[in-house]
Amino acid sequence: MSDWSKATRPIPVPNEWTKPFWDAANRGVLELQRCQSCGHFQHPPYATCTQCVATDLKFEAVRGAGTIYAYTIMYHTGDKRFASVVPYASIIVELDAAPGALMAGNLLEAEYTEAKVGRRVEVVFEKLNDNITLPQFRLARTNSTE
Ligand SMILES: [Zn+2]
Repeated sequence: MSDWSKATRPIPVPNEWTKPFWDAANRGVLELQRCQSCGHFQHPPYATCTQCVATDLKFEAVRGAGTIYAYTIMYHTGDKRFASVVPYASIIVELDAAPGALMAGNLLEAEYTEAKVGRRVEVVFEKLNDNITLPQFRLARTNSTE
């Protein structure tokens, strides 16, 4: 199993669109951008709704439960910052509460072979420094789909 404490993660740099997402993650809350006109959730954040082009967008808290939508296994060590954790799973997750808004992350606390399309996952928050906490995923421990 990959020991992520040995990887040197690049630190995300929030911008005007993504800052609310990162601020919420620092509080241990998952907030995604939602169109107030048609109700569509989207991620990453944009200036307009990708469904109806409305500009009335707000961030709303969502439960961090979902399913693996797609994944890839990283075997290459071209990026030396991640060499110590190869092989590892990079996954795309669709949250139950925000269909269509796809989040990227790593599958933590599991062997990379556990990454399968359709498997249930839940968010975990990985603190990178005092300013940035990275929402990540692990296999679901609760079976709730509410
Ligand atoms: Zn919309």
